[in-house]
Amino acid sequence: MAKAIGIDLGTTNSVIAVMEGGEPEVLVNSEGTRTTPSVVAFKEEQRLVGQVAKRQAVLNPSGTLFEVKRFIGRTWSEVQGEAERAPYEVVRGDDDGVRFVVGGDQYTPEEISAMVLRKMVDDASATLGETLTKAVVTVPAYFNNSQREATQNAGKIAGLEVLRIVNEPTAAALAYGLDKKGNETVLVFDLGGGTFDVSVLEVGDGVFEVRSTSGDTHLGGSDFDYAVVNWLADDFQKEYNVDLRKDKQALQRLIEAAEKAKIELSGLPETTISLPFIAMDPGSNAPLYLEKKLTRSTFEELIAPLLNRVREPVETALRDAKLSRGDVDEVILVGGSTRVPAVKKLVTEMLGKEPNQTVNPDEVVALGAAIQAGVLTGDVDDIVLLDVTPLSLGVETKGAVFTRLIDRNTTVPVRKSQTFTTAEHNQTGVEVHVLQGERDMALHNKSLGRFKLEGIPPMPASMPQIEITYDIDANGILSVTAKENSTSKEASITIQNTTTLSEDEVDRMVKEAEANAEGDREARELAEARNQLDALRLQAQRALEESEGVPEDQQTPVREAIETAEKAINDPNVTKDRYETLSQELAQALQTFQQAVAAASAASEADGAEAPEGADSDVDDEEVIDADFKPAG
Ligand code: AMP
Repeated sequence: MAKAIGIDLGTTNSVIAVMEGGEPEVLVNSEGTRTTPSVVAFKEEQRLVGQVAKRQAVLNPSGTLFEVKRFIGRTWSEVQGEAERAPYEVVRGDDDGVRFVVGGDQYTPEEISAMVLRKMVDDASATLGETLTKAVVTVPAYFNNSQREATQNAGKIAGLEVLRIVNEPTAAALAYGLDKKGNETVLVFDLGGGTFDVSVLEVGDGVFEVRSTSGDTHLGGSDFDYAVVNWLADDFQKEYNVDLRKDKQALQRLIEAAEKAKIELSGLPETTISLPFIAMDPGSNAPLYLEKKLTRSTFEELIAPLLNRVREPVETALRDAKLSRGDVDEVILVGGSTRVPAVKKLVTEMLGKEPNQTVNPDEVVALGAAIQAGVLTGDVDDIVLLDVTPLSLGVETKGAVFTRLIDRNTTVPVRKSQTFTTAEHNQTGVEVHVLQGERDMALHNKSLGRFKLEGIPPMPASMPQIEITYDIDANGILSVTAKENSTSKEASITIQNTTTLSEDEVDRMVKEAEANAEGDREARELAEARNQLDALRLQAQRALEESEGVPEDQQTPVREAIETAEKAINDPNVTKDRYETLSQELAQALQTFQQAVAAASAASEADGAEAPEGADSDVDDEEVIDADFKPAG
C-alpha cells in the first residue's frame, strides 16, 4: 500500500511526518525546514505559502492570511470578534460561514488550509519520490464536529484522502509510545503560538480516551513576543519620544526581533536585541538605533502575568476529569512555547512532577499522526489506536424502550445490525428514532434523529423483517439504515456528532444512568411484559380471523382473554406481574383453541406456515423485536 502521511495542521505552524523504517520521521519542506508556517499570501498574481508568505507579511498585511484555523468550521457569529481583530478582511459568507477577501476574491478557511496542506504534501512527495495521497490530519480535542468536517474538507480540496481525523493530544500520547504501557493518566500541556490547550487522557489497551479538555484560545508564544515588544517600545518612546508601534514596518521588525530574543533565551541567560535604522529622530531626522540587553529573568518577569493564565485551565481539566494532580502519571509537552524554561518550571510546580521531554514538542503531534497513518495502512501492526463511542447507541422500540445496538465504549469503526418488526397488522411504515445514552427508556436518552421507512407491504404484525444497521466510521460519523427484507426498500440517516460529545455531557449521562438503574430496569421490564401481552393479543386475533367456522363456544375463551388483555394494555396502573399472568392465560387459551382447530381440520390443509401455531410467531424470537414504529401517514 502507498505510504500515508501524518499532518499536524497547526494554527501557527504545520508539520508533516511519515513512517520510515518503522519509525515516524518529520519531512523537511522545500525550504529545508521541518515546520511550515500556516500562512498563505496573495501578492500581485502570485500565491505564496509557508515561510515565503510569512516573510512578506509586513509589507502585505491585508493580503497575508494567517491563523485561519481559528475560523475553520465556525459560523460568522462565533468568530466575529476574531474577524474584527484580523489585519486581513474577513466577511460573512452566504452560508453564515467565514470568507477571507483578498484582491476582490473570496476564500473559505478550508481553501486556505488546503493550500497549506497542498504545499506540504507536494514538498513531502518530492522528498520521498512518490506521490502521496493519503493522510491522517490532527485537530484539537475540543474541535466540534463542524470544525472536524471542515478540516477533512480542507484535505479533500487539497486532493487528499483523509484517512482519519485524530485528536492532537491523542497523537502526542501515541508519539510518546504511551500506548505500549499499561493504563495511564496523561496530561498533555500544549502551548503553541496562539493557543493553549490542556487535555487529560486515559491511555490503556490501545484505547486513548480524552477525559477532559480546557484551555485559552488567546494565549501563546505570540503573547510573549508582544510582552517583549511593549517593553522595548515603551523604553524607546521614553528615550526618543517615538512610538514604534505606530509604524507598521517598525512594529513588524520589533515582533520578529522579540521572537528571536525569546527563542534565544530558552537556551541562553541573556541576549541583545539590535535594530538599526528602526526610526527617524523627529527633531534631527537622524536615524535611530535600538539596542537593548534582555536577560532571562527580565523576560520571565515580563511574561509572568501571561504564565499565570495557564493555571486555571489545568485545574479545570483535572477537575472535569475528576482527578487530582497526584493521579496524573505522565505530563507531556506539546507546542513550541513549552521550550521556554519558565513554562517547564511552572508545569513541574503545578503538577508535582517533571514533564516527559523525550520528544520534540513542535513535532510530536505530526509524529503521532504518522504512526496512526502507519496503523491504518498496515505499516505499523503492533499498535491499535482506537477511539470509542462515548455512549451507547440504539433505537426506540415499542413501549418507549431504548434498545441498544452499539454499547458504550465500543471501538470504532463498528457496524451492527439487528432485525426488528412491526407492532400492528398491515403497518406500511415505521419511524426509526435514533438515540444515544445509557438509560433503559427512550425518553431519558438523547435523540439524535428520526427517519421513516415507508412502503412496507401490508402484512400481519410481527411478519415484516426490518433490518436496522448502525455504522459508525472512524471519524465518529453514524449512518443508520433501515431495510425491509421482502422488498429491499431502504431509508437512512447520517448523524455527525456521535463521538464528539463533551466529556461533561457523557459524564452526566452515565451518572444519571447509574443513579436511575433500578427504576429504569423496572420501567423496561414493565414495557417488555406489556409488549409480550400485546404481541400475543395480535397473534390470537389473527388466529380467530383465520379460523372461520370454528364453533362459537370454542372461540369465546380466546375472545375474552383478548378483551382482558386489551383493557390491561391500555391501563397505566397494571403491574408487570399482572401482564405476565395475563400473557400466560392468553397463551393457554390460544393453545387450547389451536388444538381444537387442528383436530377439527385434521383432514384439510393445515399448512404449518399459514396456520396459527401457538404462542410462537413465524420469525425467530431471538432476532426479532417488536419495534415501537408507527404506521407512516
Ligand atoms: P507552535 O504553534 O507549536 O508551532 O508554536 C509556535 C510558538 O513557539 C511560537 O510562538 C514560537 O515563537 C515558539 N517557539 C518555538 N521555539 C521556541 C523556543 N525554542 N523557545 C521559546 N519559544 C519557542
